[in-house]
Amino acid sequence: MFEKILIANRGEIALRIHRACREMGIHTVAVHSTADADAMHVRLADESVCIGPPSSKDSYLNMPAILSAATITGADAIHPGVGFLSENADFANMVAEHGLAFIGPDPQHLRVMGDKVAAKATMKEVGVPVVPGSEGAIETDDEAWRVAEEIGYPVLIKAAAGGGGRGMKVAHGRDEMHDALRLARNEARNAFGHDAVYLEKYLGHPRHIEVQILADKHGNVVHLGERDCSLQRRHQKLLEEAPSPALNAEQRAWIGNRAAEAARKMGYHSAGTLEFLYEDGEFFFIEMNTRLQVEHPVTEAITGVDIVREQIRIAAGMPLGMSQDDVHIQGHAVECRINAENPRTFAPSPGVVRDYHAPGGLDVRVDSGLYGGYRIPPYYDSLVAKLIVRGQTRNECLMRLRRALEEFVIEGVDTTIPLHQQLIGEPDFINGNYNIHWLQRYVDALS
Ligand code: ADP
Repeated sequence: MFEKILIANRGEIALRIHRACREMGIHTVAVHSTADADAMHVRLADESVCIGPPSSKDSYLNMPAILSAATITGADAIHPGVGFLSENADFANMVAEHGLAFIGPDPQHLRVMGDKVAAKATMKEVGVPVVPGSEGAIETDDEAWRVAEEIGYPVLIKAAAGGGGRGMKVAHGRDEMHDALRLARNEARNAFGHDAVYLEKYLGHPRHIEVQILADKHGNVVHLGERDCSLQRRHQKLLEEAPSPALNAEQRAWIGNRAAEAARKMGYHSAGTLEFLYEDGEFFFIEMNTRLQVEHPVTEAITGVDIVREQIRIAAGMPLGMSQDDVHIQGHAVECRINAENPRTFAPSPGVVRDYHAPGGLDVRVDSGLYGGYRIPPYYDSLVAKLIVRGQTRNECLMRLRRALEEFVIEGVDTTIPLHQQLIGEPDFINGNYNIHWLQRYVDALS
């Protein structure tokens, strides 16, 4: 087992990884920008190294600085967390070249799944159903028209290098195609430096259902059931739950086994998530995330599996701590992403947290680096806390969530807590009656 892990990330996820390490008796090294010197994960880590100025590209994306920090501190592995370098195949290669372990999959899998066109082709090959669309990248209007006529409008133009919901444009008819292609390409070029785009059928009322898998280096793969992440604003998740209120046990087993089988056939190892759209009883693969996900705690809450711990064990070459028969889904869990944002306009709200009180009690978990007096820096994404609540039943879970949100105090900055409070009182949410468009319409109607 590793003795010292460098955590190449910040915020609540860095703290989450630190916690898993300490529970495994592993020392931690935090790296941080000058803006994060007072962050909780830096305070709690055994050692810390400043790797650069506030801008992410000079700090959390600064590969030489991170590798030097690992070398100087004698770390034997790097956990990249979520975002930043977590899906960067070049970084994973460099980590290996420095004689360190990268806590994630092989660079080859990061590369293939990072190109969404290649990812879909790979999944098709291993027998996973994908959203109908272009076979590869689309070059010309003519090509796009031809594919769109085949699959029918509306269609969605997506960036091959996409992430974070960027580089996506809908074309409702032939006349909208040219502009949609141009806009998607521009957005993709600006966000990812690559302007390759592809085309997909735009589904009218799907749910976003994703399957968590764990695979070791010895060919063992399990799935930990699904998460329903349909509540999104601008294609970004705001609240996730597991199990999905839309699936029965048979559908759960079917899609879970498909996802696990795909990972096995690919020779994948580490934690991973296969994302699907689910509409009218059918699943369509959209992408695979080859890293830990922000919403992993809802799965931990209903399975009792520590996903980060398993990820670390897998990277150290150990076999999975469980077989599929050992995985039991018990109860229901919901995660609220609490962002430091205005709950109406979603404008970022950095600044000093004047008062902080986290909720507690049975089956209530808070992953957050906040504390009273902490200054939320303006340079990074606005997720500052995750509230994860479990209940024996979905109803018990929602009652507990309501109570936990009432207890949560974050003073001094705006947060999305009031939006969550309002949302969980909505009949459609209470009845589990929502799809990927529901929240967007809901917040649009509020403003
Ligand atoms: P990203 O990598 O940018 O997150 P995804 O491919 O995961 O992009 O899609 C993000 C979200 O966009 C999905 O969860 C879904 O809400 C929406 N979306 C993606 N593909 C489609 C599609 N073909 N039809 C309708 N909505 C889609």
